[in-house]
Amino acid sequence: MGCNAERAAGVLRAGAATVAEHKTELTELDRAIGDADHGENLDRGFAAVLAALDAGVPETPGAVLKVAATTLISKVGGAAGPLYGTAFLRAATKLGDASELDAAAVAAGLRAALDGVVARGKAEVGDATMVDALEPAVEAAERAHADGENVAAVLTAAADAAKEGADSTVPLTARKGRASYLGERSVGHADPGATSTALLLRSFAEASR
Ligand code: ADP
Ligand code: MG
Ligand code: MG
Repeated sequence: MGCNAERAAGVLRAGAATVAEHKTELTELDRAIGDADHGENLDRGFAAVLAALDAGVPETPGAVLKVAATTLISKVGGAAGPLYGTAFLRAATKLGDASELDAAAVAAGLRAALDGVVARGKAEVGDATMVDALEPAVEAAERAHADGENVAAVLTAAADAAKEGADSTVPLTARKGRASYLGERSVGHADPGATSTALLLRSFAEASR
């Protein structure tokens, strides 16, 4: 079975719950190498996404992601708002007006999200940003899809790879965003945005089962 608009909304609601649950942890990660607002930023955004979905779920998964994108762009601010907003917007555009998503669409949507983040933020794997989680996630999703896996398995593969990618930022020197101001003092800390990306993908995978 594919993923319809109602299911896509459920996936985003799960993301909002995860962000709320991990708000303090994400902010503490950002306190170490940034300005201690990543959890609050994302929670404000995802709470607004929840409110928008409660007001009415749009007709297609793409339209659901577009609501998330515009809401995150207007509510989150900082670096992460435009980056996550762009990710959801590019995925929404890729999904178009399909009423159901299959594994191919999910993998393609994730690839479009990554391309958007990279176009906007110009980070590469190894710079200690959300790209360190998202890029391996996209590659794992594409492999899982090529192996014939379903939507939930594709998202689970993405979540597993994103977690590994987020963990891989600990020994890195941050080269983009606020953490890069610290230079080598950013070593020894997980990147907040990579961590939130991994948490979001885990929640999406679990909600899509
Ligand atoms: P701010 O740094 O403006 O306070 P947040 O704390 O909400 O914004 O988000 C910080 C996260 O944004 C970082 O942990 C990193 O993952 C991500 N980030 C910052 N700059 C970039 C960039 N150029 N490309 C990709 N991700 C980035
Ligand atoms: Mg911050
Ligand atoms: Mg900030």
